[in-house]
Amino acid sequence: MGCVTNLTCVRCGGEVPPPASAGTCPACDDPFAVLDVQYDLDRARRTLTRAALAGRPANHWRYHELLPVEPDATALAWPVGFTPLLDATRLAMWAGCAGLRLKDDTRNPTASFKDRASSVGVVHALRAGAERVACASTGNAASSLAGFAAMAGLPATIFVPRSAPEPKVAQLLVYGADVRRVRGSYAEAYELCSRQCAEHGWYNRNCAINPYLVEGKKTCGLEIAEQTADRPASWVAVSVGDGCTIAGIGRGLTQMKALGLLAGRPRLLGVQAAGVAPIAEAFTTGSAFDPARAAGGSTMADSIDVPVPRNWRKAVREVGISGGAFVHVTDDEIAEAMLATGRLAGVFAEPAAAASVAGVRRAVLDGLIEVTDDVVAVVTGSGLKDIAGAMSVAGEPVEVDPA
Ligand SMILES: *Cc1c(COP(=O)(O)O)cnc(C)c1O
Repeated sequence: MGCVTNLTCVRCGGEVPPPASAGTCPACDDPFAVLDVQYDLDRARRTLTRAALAGRPANHWRYHELLPVEPDATALAWPVGFTPLLDATRLAMWAGCAGLRLKDDTRNPTASFKDRASSVGVVHALRAGAERVACASTGNAASSLAGFAAMAGLPATIFVPRSAPEPKVAQLLVYGADVRRVRGSYAEAYELCSRQCAEHGWYNRNCAINPYLVEGKKTCGLEIAEQTADRPASWVAVSVGDGCTIAGIGRGLTQMKALGLLAGRPRLLGVQAAGVAPIAEAFTTGSAFDPARAAGGSTMADSIDVPVPRNWRKAVREVGISGGAFVHVTDDEIAEAMLATGRLAGVFAEPAAAASVAGVRRAVLDGLIEVTDDVVAVVTGSGLKDIAGAMSVAGEPVEVDPA
């Protein structure tokens, strides 16, 4: 939109003028050389003020100065983003910190955080004249893209790995997407999608390499800044798979700070699942992620089961800028956090979403988060997305006779 200046490569720092394709850096021969959208913040500062925000729509288009696309009237009405920040005092006691608020992104139209990116992607695809959108996903990005494509009247082709949970597959079938279940891993589904997009000229919604989509994810950080104006947060905990969610949230917080709209400067806590924690490892060891050495672990948190994260550079960079840290949590810790989040805060989170809450507790135990800290945890997806996972931790109901 109005304030975009250019795109820059996270690897070489080179500038690419917009409108760039939704791909990686043309100068680097590296699939991990993703691009960042840059803005004229001095210009944004003139109109993006607290007073102006008070009169804007209760969705994420309210930050249009910091978004790379301009929604039409239909898209402007989509109820995406501006999700509630819930004060979870009993969950804070469970986690061991002074305050814990949940950024409840299960309340997006397709019940996950991914709607922030899909809405921007679909608007961008329409502007680019695309006749079909596509993505490869373990679930939420797919159902989200299918939902927004349906809202916009755009055909969608979705590649899912065999391991995608049934409810997520059901969701995208109901939204009318052309669903291709790939007999293989997520990485293989991803490669197949990229090839088919290149071949047929489809719009590729893979956040991993599409710099515009990450800008949608950024709005969660913009909202947290706005919603914590009166009570600054010391940490923001985010579960991490590919890495672009936490990177986007970090950039959102940084931009709001630059505009004078963020109180304090929360540190980012990146939470990965033990066994699939390549970004946590790169951050902790300070060495580059090496796809050739991707570990073969697994986790019940399917949405963050990403052994080859394309956005590891952005994630490590943003967590570093914030003075933050990474932790990893076991499936048992995630299961415990799912129950605690449901029982103590009334929020039904899928395993990958409960991981952020599990990470807060882990970070308190490890002495990273202080007992006096006031934390925000992002709940990225609804528990209804993975009923089998939920049933495996919640147990069975009590059987009784009607009389
Ligand atoms: C995608 C996703 C994440 C992680 O986002 P990345 O950008 O892959 O790091 C976390 N939780 C849920 C529910 C997700 O769908």
